[in-house]
Amino acid sequence: MKKIGILGSTGSIGTQTLDIVRSNSDLQVVALAAGSNVSLMEKQIREFKPKLCVMWSEEAARELRIKTADLPLQVLSGMEGLLTLAVLEEMEVLVTAIVGMIGIKPTIAAIEAGKTIALANKETLVTAGHIIMPLAAEKKVPILPVDSEHSAIFQSMNGENKKRVSKILLTASGGPFRGRKKEELKDITVEDALKHPNWSMGRKITVDSSTLVNKGLEVIEAKWLFGVEPENIQVIVQPQSIIHSMVEYEDGAVMAQLGTPDMKLPIQYALFYPDRRPMDGKRIDFYELGSITFEKPDTETFKGLSMAYDAIRVGGSMPTVFNAANEMSVSLFLNRKIKFLEIYDLIQGAMENHKVVANPSVEEILEAETAAYEFIRSNRK
Ligand code: NDP
Repeated sequence: MKKIGILGSTGSIGTQTLDIVRSNSDLQVVALAAGSNVSLMEKQIREFKPKLCVMWSEEAARELRIKTADLPLQVLSGMEGLLTLAVLEEMEVLVTAIVGMIGIKPTIAAIEAGKTIALANKETLVTAGHIIMPLAAEKKVPILPVDSEHSAIFQSMNGENKKRVSKILLTASGGPFRGRKKEELKDITVEDALKHPNWSMGRKITVDSSTLVNKGLEVIEAKWLFGVEPENIQVIVQPQSIIHSMVEYEDGAVMAQLGTPDMKLPIQYALFYPDRRPMDGKRIDFYELGSITFEKPDTETFKGLSMAYDAIRVGGSMPTVFNAANEMSVSLFLNRKIKFLEIYDLIQGAMENHKVVANPSVEEILEAETAAYEFIRSNRK
């Protein structure tokens, strides 16, 4: 029996992780955490019977305690609750499916306690990769990627000599606005941005996909996960989302992982690595598919990607500012407070305004986050 905990169990990755648990009787859920969705959390608790549950909001935790008073369950709240969950004695694997930088401290605590990390929460590696990867190496804790591209890269490196990697070829769908120019993006609505052509995901990452910020975050995530410098990570638009990413070796061989766009595969792969388990679902029909096409990303229009390369080249606390400014701008956009293209302006402004701290500590990362939020609050038009 493998005992798992999930940070963000009510979200897109969290609920799909629970689907994997439903179809594998040797997985047991011991802990769940979410933000404020009490009704779904109650259903999950009654079905999966964890011993610990954390709600970020104390009000939600209070409500959940009342609703689950008949169960032998501990309900905690806030960061203290997340940190307690991260080090829970019987938990072996922590799935980090929370959204945003809030995942940094629990992920570090879990690594320190020797828990295997199935990592979906890319914002954590983007901002604190320089702390998390050496710590995981020191504690001999595996960080198993859940992001589909990083899972594909990981699978394409299986059994290979990592020193012989010459390039990572990170694929991108191009998002819902691929092919459009800046003029055509002025009046994009929230509904337009939430229509991803191939993947069904949470709201924040769906908007990030439409700006190419998500691809930028993935470049930085790949740097930390695989120790490959950004100049050796090439983004290739592959609109059908069939090739999930590729790795080129020094002899010119290219290894790729292909599949239908379904997050359950990378989640299951991370949970059972190095084994592969059977999984139902659609298979690629190559006759029906006919062709797979490739394009260069338009980084002039979709500046999220070029700004991410700038941030990682500068390094230190700059990726944090890129990420934090994006988190806040996307939230403002989703709440209809700013226009689509202002997301880029606010990220760029916050990055230009930032005085870089080399090798930031967790506290300095969180200070850079706060400073980016303050910059946006006082510079919004
Ligand atoms: P969702 O928005 O669908 O879900 C986020 C989850 O985090 C919810 O369970 C939410 O709870 C919970 N949460 C939010 N804030 C807090 C908090 N402060 N404390 C505890 N829990 C909290 O996001 P996704 O599942 O789409 O994405 C999760 C992560 O995975 C992101 O980092 C994303 O980039 C990454 N990812 C996602 C992919 C996808 O296909 N969705 C693909 C690859 C990576 P509540 O419901 O109560 O608000």
